[in-house]
Amino acid sequence: MKKHNFNAGPAILPDYTIEKSIEAIKDLNGSGLSLLTISHRSKDFDAIMDGAVAATKRLLDIPEGYSVIFLGGGASTQFYTIPYNFLGTKAAYLDTGTWALGGIKEAKLYGEVEVVASSKDKNYSYIPKGYKIPTDVDYFEICCNNTIEGTEIREDWDVSVPFIADMSSDIFSRPVDVSKYSLIFAGAQKNFAPAGVTMVIIKDAFLEKVVRPVPTMADYRVHVSKNSMFNTPPVFPIFAALKTMEWIEMSGGVKEMEKRAIDRSEKVYAELERNKFFVPTVEDPADRSRMNITFLLKPEYAELETAFLDLAKARGLVGIKGHRSVGGFRASCYNALPMESVDALVATLQEFEKSN
Ligand code: PLP
Repeated sequence: MKKHNFNAGPAILPDYTIEKSIEAIKDLNGSGLSLLTISHRSKDFDAIMDGAVAATKRLLDIPEGYSVIFLGGGASTQFYTIPYNFLGTKAAYLDTGTWALGGIKEAKLYGEVEVVASSKDKNYSYIPKGYKIPTDVDYFEICCNNTIEGTEIREDWDVSVPFIADMSSDIFSRPVDVSKYSLIFAGAQKNFAPAGVTMVIIKDAFLEKVVRPVPTMADYRVHVSKNSMFNTPPVFPIFAALKTMEWIEMSGGVKEMEKRAIDRSEKVYAELERNKFFVPTVEDPADRSRMNITFLLKPEYAELETAFLDLAKARGLVGIKGHRSVGGFRASCYNALPMESVDALVATLQEFEKSN
């Protein structure tokens, strides 16, 4: 049976990425060696690293004065690396859920944290509005796409202090005005590679604002100056990231990814609005994530949860169960998800309505 992969992460990747990765694991560019066994100091790997940096810069139209690095450790590593480097006295954070809190918790180890607003009162089902960002902070950090709660910030705000964003689950799903940010980070395992690498885009001038002595491996300046090669980088995910970026470029770039994300998510949300059994967890369409669509059975049908999960499984829908903190269901619709899978989800929602 055809599987439709709605996993939240690790998640679906383009067939192109998988095929090119398998080829390279067997034999990298006809070298007779596997990608997994070559030196990261070799010319072959240099080309992969340089290619991945260049492709990121092209795809996101990154202006001069920014560096792109690929680091091990996952997006969670950035939660402490950022305050370690940049939190001297006080930082501001927007509390939009689990992953925003991940950053807030670590920042508190290094200085004062001002949470400018929170949507905790409604289980993080909206993006807070109408707050002031203090001007006496070292930086302001947000999580753009809240993978678990299904909300998303899609505008690149004008912020008067250094602006930092976790784009782990929506990177490459829209054009980004990188010039608005001092630092962007994104764990790979949602929209561009297997787990094991995190991409960081950092404004070079921001590197001059490091506030304390930092251990070498946590020092952004080291990784930038060594082109992500201070230590052994996660070679395989970086190769796969390069292949995904090639696929995005061949498909029409991030504008096209945005169009596809709109088409996919509009179709699913429209069905959730229409279907008498289900309701999206995020009320305001402007706050709804295009990447992670969270939905519930209406309270009067809540006991049918297992029945829907069973039907989804029977129809080949994988990874549709919601995170335990939100409950219900979550359909993650990353860049590589074909419309065919969205159609399968919509058909299953309709079949469920008819048969109950
Ligand atoms: N930030 C966001 C938005 C995420 O969705 C996740 C993981 O799902 C993380 C950070 C943490 O990523 P990692 O598991 O790579 O540390």
